[in-house]
Amino acid sequence: MSGRSGKYNEETGKYENIIYLPVTVENNFKPELPKEKVDIIYLCFPNNPTGTVLTKQELKEWIDYAKENKAIILYDSAYEAFIEEENIPHSIYEIEGAKEVAIEFKSFSKTAGFTGVRCAYTVVPKQVKGYTKKGEEISLNKLWNRRTTTKFNGVSYIVQRAAEATYSEEGKKQIEENIKYYKENAKIIKQGLEKAGFKVYGAINSPYIWLKVPEGISSWEFFDKLLKEVNIVGTPGSGFGPSGEGYFRLTAFATRENTIKAMQRIENWKRD
Ligand SMILES: *Cc1c(COP(=O)(O)O)cnc(C)c1O
Repeated sequence: MSGRSGKYNEETGKYENIIYLPVTVENNFKPELPKEKVDIIYLCFPNNPTGTVLTKQELKEWIDYAKENKAIILYDSAYEAFIEEENIPHSIYEIEGAKEVAIEFKSFSKTAGFTGVRCAYTVVPKQVKGYTKKGEEISLNKLWNRRTTTKFNGVSYIVQRAAEATYSEEGKKQIEENIKYYKENAKIIKQGLEKAGFKVYGAINSPYIWLKVPEGISSWEFFDKLLKEVNIVGTPGSGFGPSGEGYFRLTAFATRENTIKAMQRIENWKRD
């Protein structure tokens, strides 16, 4: 951003100043620590698009790396509410030392259907420091506060009250029910795809199903086939970066009726 990503390489699909963290079947969709020193690390868990989660111990390795390398972790927890398994951190601050190196942000979009309403929060602990080229420490909390009060001025009051309501007893109950509904959709999609012979990942701690496209075709070719032959729309894996080629994302954010209908189409499609 702001010109710091460098040139885009058409052949590799990568920006020259960005270090990519490949997530593939081979590493169980869990990124390895970078070999070189980086300044900023973006992590998203549960992951969009793969649905992968990290355990506390695994996340601790990232915090240790960040401390050693004076890096900052940007932790995107948009799908926190979808976590189902035990020992999976719901916030990076559950891990010791995270307050010194991690900024966490969470949107209300996926938790409470705020995609159009627009609300999110960002946690910038006072302990988190950025470093100038000369090595001077800068408080990121102060910079963030200045950015928020001069360039943004905040979310409208009525939307803030709506976000607040998601933490009330009644609000929590409604959200839970909604998420349960979407997760049931995810299970239906996972089972349907498996029955049709696809290799499927995710769908447990996330509303997404990450599937391997059949050998010999690209993500985009699979997109076209799925759209034209069975009228189902999804997201080609290559849109998420170079490691996503050969994969495809389906979403559980639909009605039960349409989810079941789509799976019936896919099952019949494979039999044809
Ligand atoms: C949806 C999403 C967001 C942000 O959503 P907004 O609607 O812009 O608040 C951020 N990160 C991930 C991984 C998402 O899927």
